Amino acid sequence: MSKIVFFSAKPYDKAFFTKYNEADSFELQFLETHLGPHIANAVEEGTFAVCVFVNDKLTSEVIAVLAEKGVQVIALRCAGFNNVDLDAAGKYGIRVCRVPAYSPEAVAEHAVAMLLTLNRKTHKAYNRVREQNFSLNGLLGFNMHGRTIGVIGTGKIGMAFCRIMLGFGCRVLAYDLFEDEDLKALGVRYTAFEEVLKAVDVLSLHCPLTPDNKYLINKDTLAIMKPGCSIINTSRGGLICTGDVIEALKTGHVAYLGIDVYEQEERLFFKDLSGSIIEDDTIQRLMSFPNVLVTGHQAFFTDEALSQIAQITLGNLYQLDAGEEPDPSVILV
Ligand code: NAD
Repeated sequence: MSKIVFFSAKPYDKAFFTKYNEADSFELQFLETHLGPHIANAVEEGTFAVCVFVNDKLTSEVIAVLAEKGVQVIALRCAGFNNVDLDAAGKYGIRVCRVPAYSPEAVAEHAVAMLLTLNRKTHKAYNRVREQNFSLNGLLGFNMHGRTIGVIGTGKIGMAFCRIMLGFGCRVLAYDLFEDEDLKALGVRYTAFEEVLKAVDVLSLHCPLTPDNKYLINKDTLAIMKPGCSIINTSRGGLICTGDVIEALKTGHVAYLGIDVYEQEERLFFKDLSGSIIEDDTIQRLMSFPNVLVTGHQAFFTDEALSQIAQITLGNLYQLDAGEEPDPSVILV
């Protein structure tokens, strides 16, 4: 039976992968630690695959060790692959597969949840009524209906987000390198990036982080936005210059900020740090604002998405183990 070693494995990874490992086709080993040079040697000789997540580091050094152990596949249980040296994998003849898409609605719905929480202050109301404080002072929100929403990136997730916003009765403006005809037919209007920024009450980011769009939201682009605008980022932390957005929050130029991703998240997210001193003053400052909501990269975290991630990852591995070629969309090397 071929063996798969999971790194950065959480209890939910174990639950979903065990459930979908039909007929116990693979031997599964779950390790909590990240994969990096410190642990690569612990992979047993003859292991068929390692299964990794966003914060595992597959440098050429790590990949060389895996190759020595006879590992044949690196299976990413996520879409992004910036943490894997694909050239090194190619050089050592290790195949690399991923899950290019899983439940875009999960992420889009979380973006909406963040927006509604910030706007209608349900997080404050929840605590308030538990203390028998039924006052409404400070809970004033705004109607979503009739507001102008800007969407940057109208791929799978951005598209799902646009559809929800249209359902709310919002006017939706979008910017993408490619325009989607179906969305246009539904009423989404594409325009230039700056025009979106100028016009919107709420901006939601759904494009990938690339070398060209790092700090897409910075002091110059924030200055173009309307005073009192809201920003939601469920995409990648590096799209926002956190220092600049903090300045804009301090002046009130940005009224609400909801982030599920953060540029320095690697040191924080997916860990229970409740008993630790956090040295990152920027995230501490962000979390001190009453009009900022931070969640720890949980937008994807639904039953449907985790089921799809487990099924697609195991499906990729079944095929590669059987010597079959999976769909090109899941294969990186
Ligand atoms: P996708 O590839 O389907 O869509 C991305 C869209 O962005 C495409 O239409 C592309 O043309 C557009 N785009 C690329 N560069 C752009 C730019 N500079 N400006 C404007 N548009 C640009 O991807 P997706 O599945 O919709 O995912 C979007 C992003 O969501 C991912 O890149 C990832 O960073 C993030 N994500 C977050 C979570 C989470 O849990 N928070 C989970 C999955 C994905």
